[in-house]
Amino acid sequence: MTPVFRFAPSPNGELHLGHALSAILNHDMARETSGRFLLRIEDIDPQRCRPEFEAQIFEDLRWLGLNWEEPVRRQSEHVDVYRDALKKLRGMGLVYPAFLSRAEVKRRVAEAEERGDDWPRDPDGTPLYPTEERELDSALAASRLKAGDRHLWRLNMDRALEHLGSERLDWLETGHAAPERIPAHPSLWGDVALWRWDAPSSYHLSVVVDDALQGVTHVVRGRDLYWSTPVHRLLQRLLDLPQPTYLHHRLLTDESGQKLSKSLRSTGLRALRQAGETPSDIRRRIGL
Ligand code: GLU
Repeated sequence: MTPVFRFAPSPNGELHLGHALSAILNHDMARETSGRFLLRIEDIDPQRCRPEFEAQIFEDLRWLGLNWEEPVRRQSEHVDVYRDALKKLRGMGLVYPAFLSRAEVKRRVAEAEERGDDWPRDPDGTPLYPTEERELDSALAASRLKAGDRHLWRLNMDRALEHLGSERLDWLETGHAAPERIPAHPSLWGDVALWRWDAPSSYHLSVVVDDALQGVTHVVRGRDLYWSTPVHRLLQRLLDLPQPTYLHHRLLTDESGQKLSKSLRSTGLRALRQAGETPSDIRRRIGL
């Protein structure tokens, strides 16, 4: 089977050295294994993504000397496919409409904490959505949906895990001396949002659907997405999608040890190019 790699940036800022590391690793691994290298534009969030950033992604990657297959998949052009995946999960009774605003959840958390109760949080520290909201009376939920009340769609994590029965989820993490099977515990994330009110689909849903549709066999991405992988494995299992192998690579840090962010001028690819650096300088800077 031909290995298929992909680099999947979101056009919500400028590419920096961390993106260069991801893109070049994927590109070079594809070349070394006579595999395919795809570029996917993850522009599902209309509030944050901009066409000028997309144009700059192409320019920066071309400058680095990378070639990818055409046509490039743009997530904003495939919303129907993600909606079908959501529909399938709805049909399985695994998702529910969540009407509480972020402020309302915050208020409930504050109340609970005032009473001295702990409120569970996800690995990013965000409070989990209150589980009692799962069982909203179905007639009430239907009438609120009909009235167009603002909501998003969440996965009922307990029910999703019940669906798997005794099966244990894991993934194959490669890139170390020996590949390792890592146990996946998606319940850490609670009832993850799969469909937002302010953007179609969620990162989690669109990424697993696209990786499957594009036949991606190797997901190579930054360590910052390591803890998303349990959710991706769960969705792949629920939607009957194949499982790729994963390699979560090191993250680059700035001089003060902070993770690089898109706003950092000194590490942006465009800024470095304009300062006269060459693609080989970039490879050297990122240790390749
Ligand atoms: N679009 C995501 C990002 O820019 C990466 C998705 C992935 O590699 O799975 O961080």
